[in-house]
Amino acid sequence: MIAGAGLAGASVAVTLREAGYSGPIALLGDEVTPPFGRPPLSKTYLTGAEGLGGWYVRPAEWYDRNGVELRCDAAVSRVDPDARTVILGSGETIRYGRLVLCTGARPRKPQIPGMDLPGVHLLRTVADCDAIKSAARPTSRAVVVGMGFIGSEVAASLRRLGVAVTAVLTGATPLEAVLGGEVGVAMASIHREHGVELIPGDQVVGFEGSASLERAVTKAGLVIECDFAVVGAGIELNLAPMTGTAIALDNGVLVDAHCRTNVDGIYAAGDVANHLHPLFGRVRVEHYNNAEKMGGAVARSILGNEAPYGYVHSFWSDQYEHKLEYVGHATEWHRFVVRGSVEARTFVGFYVRDGVLRAAVGLNRGGDPELDEQSELHACQELIARQTAVPIKALEDESVDLLGLLTTT
Ligand SMILES: Cc1cc2nc3c(=O)[nH]c(=O)nc-3n(C[C@H](O)[C@H](O)[C@H](O)COP(=O)(O)OP(=O)(O)OC[C@H]3O[C@@H](n4cnc5c(N)ncnc54)[C@H](O)[C@@H]3O)c2cc1C
Repeated sequence: MIAGAGLAGASVAVTLREAGYSGPIALLGDEVTPPFGRPPLSKTYLTGAEGLGGWYVRPAEWYDRNGVELRCDAAVSRVDPDARTVILGSGETIRYGRLVLCTGARPRKPQIPGMDLPGVHLLRTVADCDAIKSAARPTSRAVVVGMGFIGSEVAASLRRLGVAVTAVLTGATPLEAVLGGEVGVAMASIHREHGVELIPGDQVVGFEGSASLERAVTKAGLVIECDFAVVGAGIELNLAPMTGTAIALDNGVLVDAHCRTNVDGIYAAGDVANHLHPLFGRVRVEHYNNAEKMGGAVARSILGNEAPYGYVHSFWSDQYEHKLEYVGHATEWHRFVVRGSVEARTFVGFYVRDGVLRAAVGLNRGGDPELDEQSELHACQELIARQTAVPIKALEDESVDLLGLLTTT
């Protein structure tokens, strides 16, 4: 039984079937859409450039055809590990043999006065995106709150739709909390060049309007007239069904390197899972590739595969014509080393700690590490996995082949 029919949950079901498991599988969800990837909701689906069909984990009919009971009306309200049951919101109680928790997250709703006014939006679901889409007319004015990945991508998409965008961010530059100041400066210049008015070092402290949103007020005292706002203030994990049970929780559902919780027969994957990574220690990752691959890892773990889940994480972000790719996991680093040019917006940046490569980011460079094994970022994934010292000069030097470093370090 899989609780949560998102990307991670569906990846568990798909991998189980593809690996030959023939027993019953139930995928319990509470969204109307078949399991899908959310990336287009801040990008191509928001701008109208594509539908969602290409982002379904499997076509809607796959589940029936493969004996996977997909329920879209099955919000789990409680897990009872002693009885090995889950209890749905409707009161229905269902027994499980093994249970995988993939309940993901919802947007964090900050305590800002006026937050519930019509016109103030959060973004996670198709319905959220459709609401933003219908507000986004070429003459409208939007305030984007927060310039993490959701805020940055939404700002870019709204500009593509001709919406006037003012973005308020607490930090100095977009994405600097994750990618650091150098990349942040590059991203700020990209947004400004595309007409986003960036207001750094400030925060929205009030939304005002009579029947719907008319203006946002900032801590520094700015009053920004607007027609709608999109708030990208991080996520809150969907932990309610597990809270107060024997399942250990700490910044997510705690799982070991085999995606197992402390309770026999219960696993977790995706945004909600705080996993023990062989290289990075305890991490909880909020990205597409992790949800997909960890779902697969849970399935293999259930089927008896003893290899730990040691994926060197990766993610991407598309903003305007620019593409960011990232591999590894670095929250602190001693040096940020650049190959290429930050000013020209084509570079690979290396996050080095204690002489060891922990993560790398590519802006319009580096290739998709998942699709291209010859790409620079794929080479970085391999270098990160080794955790051996890397020569800084070689990282900076364009003439040194990163793949070649794998044989010389
Ligand atoms: C707008 C947007 C754009 C993104 N773009 C990118 C990107 O470009 N690159 C990238 O790497 N990542 C991106 N992400 C992140 C990525 O989508 C997530 O990491 C991924 O969706 C996590 O998958 P998941 O299955 O763990 O969680 P979710 O996708 O949240 O799925 C969890 C599912 O469980 C359901 N559920 C919750 N509680 C219950 C319950 N009690 N009972 C039953 N069902 C329940 C939820 O409704 C949902 O269907 C983006 C996210 C968003 C929101």
